[in-house]
Amino acid sequence: MPVEKRTPIPVSEAIKRIVNEIILMDITNVKLSESLNYILAEDIVATYDIPRFDKSPYDGFALRSIDTTKASGDNRIFFKVIDHIGAGAVSNESVGEHEAVRIMTGAAIPKGADAVVMLEQTTEYESGFTIRKQFDALENISIKGEETKTGDIVLQKGQRINAGAIAVLATYGYTEVPVYNKPSVAIIATGSELLDVGDELEPGKIRNSNGPMISALAQNLGLTIETYKIQQDDLDTSIETVTNALQQHDIIITTGGVSVGDFDYLPQIYQHLEAKVLFNKVAMRPGSVTTVAVAQGKYLFGLSGNPSACYTGFELFVRTAVLKMTGAQAVYPQVVRATLMEDFTKPNPFTRFIRATTTFDGHQMTVTPSGFNKSGAVVAIAHSNAMIMLPGGTRGYKKGYTVDVILTESDSREYDLTL
Ligand code: AMP
Ligand code: MG
Repeated sequence: MPVEKRTPIPVSEAIKRIVNEIILMDITNVKLSESLNYILAEDIVATYDIPRFDKSPYDGFALRSIDTTKASGDNRIFFKVIDHIGAGAVSNESVGEHEAVRIMTGAAIPKGADAVVMLEQTTEYESGFTIRKQFDALENISIKGEETKTGDIVLQKGQRINAGAIAVLATYGYTEVPVYNKPSVAIIATGSELLDVGDELEPGKIRNSNGPMISALAQNLGLTIETYKIQQDDLDTSIETVTNALQQHDIIITTGGVSVGDFDYLPQIYQHLEAKVLFNKVAMRPGSVTTVAVAQGKYLFGLSGNPSACYTGFELFVRTAVLKMTGAQAVYPQVVRATLMEDFTKPNPFTRFIRATTTFDGHQMTVTPSGFNKSGAVVAIAHSNAMIMLPGGTRGYKKGYTVDVILTESDSREYDLTL
């Protein structure tokens, strides 16, 4: 068979083609405690003001600001304490002239009072206290509705539910949260050279590392995962496996067999399925042969067998698709800028993605390639928390240049606080 001719498209165009597909998961309700990292399926509207009532942000005394106008160091003013309330309590008293209510953080401001004096600003006596400073009306008061008013949209449909969103949902009494279902994914490692993790090595064979790696990346996204047994390079059984996977799952990820070699059957599998191929060549390294298709309303990802390429393909394309189909508003990889700490002089016809480590050195964000970085590399992936993204068509990059970086490990930490 003649070698198939493929036309590379820019990475941005590849991502656009994925995002342009309209494949959306169903909406369901999950328990608030299980909603972390789901995408919210409805706007959440404030059903009451926050704060819900004027309240004290400090432990102190609530009083009338008008009674403090003559206070100074030489003219301490005395207030009589008429009541004492903790958080959650409400005073029945009304604060009159030169009266005060002892109030704790979070308690409602009693009637008549319009300012709070912190405990530290008073000298206390048996029946009251004195102050030496004037207070303005509303000083030290958290005012009803100052953060959020009834009717405000406090969380937007399409937002990822983070810890803060969970706090907001809890505030408004959501024990259940409307979210988009997470897709289920079939992970199929292909290659007659592959052995299972527990197998003894044999001449010419390697262990399947992509399957477990992709499974871990999918786990990070909260997907339901089915790992298929290693698929030999055989067209008929490959078609059978992928056809079967399409019945069971929302996303099919294969690794390997996507190139133009004698046993690279993925193009023929997609042909057999009458899949719409969104692209089969991307102007990027590694992973230029990465192929993405759609069949029966489902995404099929043909990731390269080369581990670094496989990882890059997941980060750029699978992650984006998962976010899109779960209704997320923000779907594009987040790019930050950092100072390159090593020369990278290899000329770049295509956009190059390099597994790398970002560090804040006390002054600036820096980024260093994380080791041997060919497309077949595995170890550098483990030491990376980011990918440097170097545009194609340049003659290389020198230490000190500012480069674009995609962060891949949101929970990475520095070894040491170098501030
Ligand atoms: P392929 O994409 O099938 O041409 O494979 C490209 C390279 O990746 C070859 O050297 C394969 O041996 C290797 N490879 C393929 N699949 C895997 C896998 N699941 N785990 C580790 N390496 C793989
Ligand atoms: Mg192969």
